[in-house]
Amino acid sequence: MSRVYNFSAGPAVLPEEVLITARDEMLEYGTSGMSVMEMSHRSKDFEDILDTAERDLRTLMNIPDNYRVLFLQGGGCTQFAMIPMNLMRNKTADYIVTGQWSKKASEEAKIYGQVNITATSADKNYSYIPDFTDLKVTPNADYVYICQNETVHGTTIRHLPDTGNVPLAADVSSMFLSEPVDVNRYGIIWGGVQKNVGPAGVTIVIIREDLIRDDVLPFTPTMLKYKTHSETKSLYNTPPCYNIYICGLVFKWLLKLGGTSEMKKRNEAKAKILYDYLDSSRLFHGTVEKKDRSLMNVPFITGNKELDAEFASEASKAGLKNLKGHRSVGGMRASLYNAMPVEGVNALVQFMADFERKH
Ligand SMILES: *Cc1c(COP(=O)(O)O)cnc(C)c1O
Repeated sequence: MSRVYNFSAGPAVLPEEVLITARDEMLEYGTSGMSVMEMSHRSKDFEDILDTAERDLRTLMNIPDNYRVLFLQGGGCTQFAMIPMNLMRNKTADYIVTGQWSKKASEEAKIYGQVNITATSADKNYSYIPDFTDLKVTPNADYVYICQNETVHGTTIRHLPDTGNVPLAADVSSMFLSEPVDVNRYGIIWGGVQKNVGPAGVTIVIIREDLIRDDVLPFTPTMLKYKTHSETKSLYNTPPCYNIYICGLVFKWLLKLGGTSEMKKRNEAKAKILYDYLDSSRLFHGTVEKKDRSLMNVPFITGNKELDAEFASEASKAGLKNLKGHRSVGGMRASLYNAMPVEGVNALVQFMADFERKH
């Protein structure tokens, strides 16, 4: 066996310890005589897995009692529709567009109501986060939407906009559990888990109770109502049981290491190694304004497309995988999620320095 350093943006690297536990429990979970994959979602064993996962997530994020935790399917993109369907009572919402994912969300929301783009960084190809100090919130807006970490463009919103009484809806897919958050600042905070938490197939939604209501848009399917999943504790229909189990193992791993504050420390240290190198390199350059750089997704370029392609291909041969940038922006991107060890970042920077010397 030889495991590589996997810099994929998602699905992405998982903690080796978690994979080992999953391997050990593959044929028999506990004394159940079967794999988690084979269990009824209504069994006692699975009920425990789900309850424990929720409890551990509540501990990790310090989730207040008036927020519900939902384990859903349909990926991040389904939330782009579920949020307006469930929350657009006045048929109007504000969107802050800072990259590909918030742009997609805003376009989906236009199907359901009025979308006001109240801030955007489209003018400079989403390479920075706009200043929110005098952000106007539309008075009757149902929510203000942000993507807090733009996976493709590599920016992070560090200071949340002040939205007054209007709930803040945040996509945190690619920074989920990477640092502490104050859940009280959000009406709804959610993420697809395949970036930083688990295997593709689960979307975790944390939503304030008063936003789970009956008066959703009239055509909203039963499966797409938050209320359906909240009333049935994510067991309205068969959930992605095995994937929830893996998320639960990741939560245990995080708790053991010291939770999100320890992750923040580690993630800052890892990102600093790469950003410091980028700032000193004459060949490689970061593409994002320094103050807005993501700790999770680090895009960089040489300025020469052929050299970029050569770099990604040589790096792959050296066991540094998935460094090619997103097809929409080109260049390279290194994703440094929780499960990426510091050794991986050191190996990457070493490889980049060697490549720089040769070119
Ligand atoms: C990957 C991603 C999504 C889309 O997730 P899918 O599960 O592929 O639908 C949405 N938002 C962000 C920030 C992402 O990184």
